[in-house]
Amino acid sequence: MQNPYLPYPVSINQVITETEDRNLKTYKFAFLNSGDEDRFAYHAGQFAELSVTGKGEIPIGIASSPTEKGFVMFTVNKVGLVSSHLHNMRVGDVMGIRGPLGNWYPWDILEGKNIVIIGGGFAFTTLRSSIIYMLEPANRSKFKDIHVIYGARTPGMLLYKDELAEWEKRDDINMHITVDATDDPDWKYNVGFVPTITEQKAPNADDDTYAIVCGPPIMIKFTQPVLDDLGYKHDQIIMSLENRMKCGIGICGHCNIGKEFVCKDGPVFTLAQLNHMPKEY
Ligand SMILES: Cc1cc2nc3c(=O)[nH]c(=O)nc-3n(C[C@H](O)[C@H](O)[C@H](O)COP(=O)(O)OP(=O)(O)OC[C@H]3O[C@@H](n4cnc5c(N)ncnc54)[C@H](O)[C@@H]3O)c2cc1C
Repeated sequence: MQNPYLPYPVSINQVITETEDRNLKTYKFAFLNSGDEDRFAYHAGQFAELSVTGKGEIPIGIASSPTEKGFVMFTVNKVGLVSSHLHNMRVGDVMGIRGPLGNWYPWDILEGKNIVIIGGGFAFTTLRSSIIYMLEPANRSKFKDIHVIYGARTPGMLLYKDELAEWEKRDDINMHITVDATDDPDWKYNVGFVPTITEQKAPNADDDTYAIVCGPPIMIKFTQPVLDDLGYKHDQIIMSLENRMKCGIGICGHCNIGKEFVCKDGPVFTLAQLNHMPKEY
């Protein structure tokens, strides 16, 4: 068994500046050793520790889909020590990836269901992974209707703009992109906060409809009552937590909430599970 603390060596293949403030960059990595890509087999919803030599490790959600081969992708917000060093790295630089870590969205339960993806800001990363996974031709028939409600502060703060435009053109996914505000006369999508757009566009829940919600705490706080009103039971609302963590494998105790280690038992929980946990997230 591979030592869980040992990262796989990777090189940076591509860097994409996503947002107008230049604080969000997407990195595509290639594994340096043959066989490592297969060993790093992951599911949509998992995360990895990105390891910058001499600086440290940070947990980041995997933004690529397991159906995308030849690279693994992450989108990183520049907030502090490690993420700032990563933002200064260039194509060809070598670093490490440790994982895949944590649980994932419950695809065995989600198959055969209507899926409502609700995302805000840069928490859209594992949601992109999920959308690509569900839209894969071999997978699309496994899911019923797919709705995506995704919001950012301004048009320039949206991630993955080219893909959003592509998904907008498809008739097998219902896109509801929104921004808090814009003075762009050419903006052709919604204006309004994510909870408001959810109220307007999300389908009422039946037993076959699940919502996956990822975003800043304020978005989640105001989206949850909307989903309650639409009839979503709390085991039909799936969330991913971003607690501070270190080891990523349920040993160090940095991220635990009560008995649950967010890194190992999570980061994905249903709202029904979160309701039974201390409010430390
Ligand atoms: C499961 C998981 C998935 C994540 N996915 C992503 C992702 O896809 N993209 C992304 O950009 N970020 C993601 N994050 C958050 C990311 O891990 C932190 O922003 C990162 O660890 C900051 O490291 P740093 O060394 O750059 O900052 P530091 O120098 O450690 O800290 C800078 C500032 O950020 C605060 N901070 C650090 N970590 C967190 C945290 N987890 N929550 C709240 N505040 C924090 C610190 O208190 C400090 O104020 C994820 C976190 C988790 C646990």
